[in-house]
Parts: sequence; C-alpha cells; structure tokens
Amino acid sequence: MTKRGGRPVQHRTWVVGECWRCDRIGVPVLWLGPVQTDLGTGPFQACEPCILRLEAKVYAYAEQRDTA
Ligand SMILES: [Zn+2]
Repeated sequence: MTKRGGRPVQHRTWVVGECWRCDRIGVPVLWLGPVQTDLGTGPFQACEPCILRLEAKVYAYAEQRDTA
C-alpha cells in the first residue's frame, strides 16, 4: 500500500539500538529485514541517515529494473 504520489506508508517501528551499517549505538533504528551470511541470519537494522542512503540505492535499483 502506498500513498498516492508520496512515500510508501510506513508500518515499521523505530527502536533505539545499534545501526548495523554505521555501527552507531543508542540511536533510533528501523528493522529492514533479515541479513544472511555464511555464519547465519540476523536482523539488519539501520539509523535514519543510513536508511536514506539505502533508499537512494533501492530507488536507483528499481529505476534500473524498470528500464531494463
Ligand atoms: Zn547508520
């Protein structure tokens, strides 16, 4: 479900924790999904600045897929 002409409706909850991208601790983070490595699976969570960078990558990836 998306808002018309806007960002997707956000249903996830921010919690205070550790950003798995920039290693900052005690910052608001959002769970983005499971991360899978050869050693196992863990919860990938990131802070807002990191999420903004990730969103830019996701957007660029989606654009690339749409035009392929
Ligand atoms: Zn971060």
